[in-house]
Amino acid sequence: MKTSRRQFLKLTAAASALPFASMAASAPAVNKPIVISTWNFGKQANEEAWKILSAGGKALDAVEAGARVPEGDPKETSVGLGGLPDSDGRVTLDACIMDEQGNIGSVACLEHIVHPVSVARKVMEKTPHVMLVGEGALQFALANGFKKEKLLTKESEKAWKKWLKEKKYKPVANIENHDTIGIVALDAQGNLSGACTTSGMAYKMRGRVGDSPIIGAGLYVDNEVGAATSTGVGEEVIRIVGCHLVVELMRQGNSPEQACKMAVERIIRKNPDKAKTLQVGFLALSKSGEYGAYCLQKGFTYAVHDSAMNKLFDASSIY
Ligand code: ASP
Repeated sequence: MKTSRRQFLKLTAAASALPFASMAASAPAVNKPIVISTWNFGKQANEEAWKILSAGGKALDAVEAGARVPEGDPKETSVGLGGLPDSDGRVTLDACIMDEQGNIGSVACLEHIVHPVSVARKVMEKTPHVMLVGEGALQFALANGFKKEKLLTKESEKAWKKWLKEKKYKPVANIENHDTIGIVALDAQGNLSGACTTSGMAYKMRGRVGDSPIIGAGLYVDNEVGAATSTGVGEEVIRIVGCHLVVELMRQGNSPEQACKMAVERIIRKNPDKAKTLQVGFLALSKSGEYGAYCLQKGFTYAVHDSAMNKLFDASSIY
């Protein structure tokens, strides 16, 4: 269902030229339900999300269920339980969620809780706020029935102790020191939602927050247009408010892939020297179920699950 920009513009122009009745008859079919997510672990996440979507469930429930899969997997060193710690040896987690009505919830620098995406959802549904951080986020999670757990596994602790010997911090592209699950879905009712969750850059400074819990940077959903999520060096994504930018570029008629590419190019324009070595990837889904991705460096994979397939793809890249 990937479409070129020209096809996309043609379809949009044709649809908007028609009166409503004939538009309903001849509008291009919407590919729904569908769920897409970042990196190889997206495949298992999508499978969980698909159980909900294929039964007619809501995109919001699907993205939360999907995001919880790598969060709960101790072998994934970039999300939730087993995530690599900050430079002080603390696992601090960032997550957010956004629904079709524009409701949002987010937690940042949250410790001791395996499923920050579900805490973010509670922030969205139970508080008058949109974001809780650190101690306050933990207090809220515990008050809402989440269990305090040890997130630092033996393996992650070993990796951190090895890192301590040199203490060099360099956000290198595509190695295990970063990765995020960003997951967006379109349900059978035609509604979009998204979620994003990560342990952030490994060995980051204590208190560092990346793009992933920041609505507009690491995730954005606009039910009229589409949804986008990001992965890679969060500082660069925040600088351009990346996912909001991708959605707005889709609103202007760009296909999901083209919009992701334009956002990546914006990062290069802001920071041409750094961009050659760091990784950022965007992934987007339109209201009609088209999807696309783009990244700076080769190696960003993403997973797609719809009624026809359940597959991994390599995103196109600049370098
Ligand atoms: N974007 C995440 C962050 O900066 C990490 C990643 O996706 O690799 O925290």
